[in-house]
Amino acid sequence: MLNFFKKHKDIVAVFSEKLDGPMKLTGDAEIYERRKAFLKKAGVIGKKTVYAEQMHGEGVSIAGWDSPNLIQKTDSLITKEKDIYLCVTTADCIPVFFFDPVNHVVGLTHAGWKGIANGIIENTVREMMRIGGKIESIEVALGPGIGKCHFEIKKDILEKFNKYLEFVSKKGNGKIFLDLKGIIKKKLLNLNIKKESIEVSDVCTFCDKIFFSYRRDKPSKVEAMIAVIGMKK
Ligand SMILES: [Zn+2]
Repeated sequence: MLNFFKKHKDIVAVFSEKLDGPMKLTGDAEIYERRKAFLKKAGVIGKKTVYAEQMHGEGVSIAGWDSPNLIQKTDSLITKEKDIYLCVTTADCIPVFFFDPVNHVVGLTHAGWKGIANGIIENTVREMMRIGGKIESIEVALGPGIGKCHFEIKKDILEKFNKYLEFVSKKGNGKIFLDLKGIIKKKLLNLNIKKESIEVSDVCTFCDKIFFSYRRDKPSKVEAMIAVIGMKK
């Protein structure tokens, strides 16, 4: 289990590993048990959890006490409520954790190339500010996800990132690679989030076999890690 925002005591921000088992909801009853076991390991017992359905969209939803366990058609969740735990699952996409420890707002984003290209990072920060977050105190942690060493793209995707050419590498064999984490960090800096408030995991899920990787493993049933964030009461 990986922990983020370690200097703060009043937050749970964690990410599972392969040994915790696949966490993507597939209608499999075992997944519920596995998620429950992981939450317990993270110290989240008997608390409200809210999941994002994840459509590779750019939508952000506010989670509250009335929210269902699964919010549909969203890839990003935010809340100002303590004791509500936000969850997304990823396997190569980047889990992005947001925390404003001063104004008590958290967020969690499932960030793949499509959502990133369509503004999910900017949308999440904007929505956090709408419910009380402030740019100067928002901290962000990018968890493990596919790195620039393995995120190969075709030209059609490249066109969506023409403002971010510094994060594109072209290899001699004509292959094109994109640095999604670099692009997210750049977007956060463009939003005026402080450089020292951004931590970026250098772990590539394709390279590091302690994680599931969709591109590496090409499983018939999606296997994914779970990311969880919530403020302790
Ligand atoms: Zn890699």
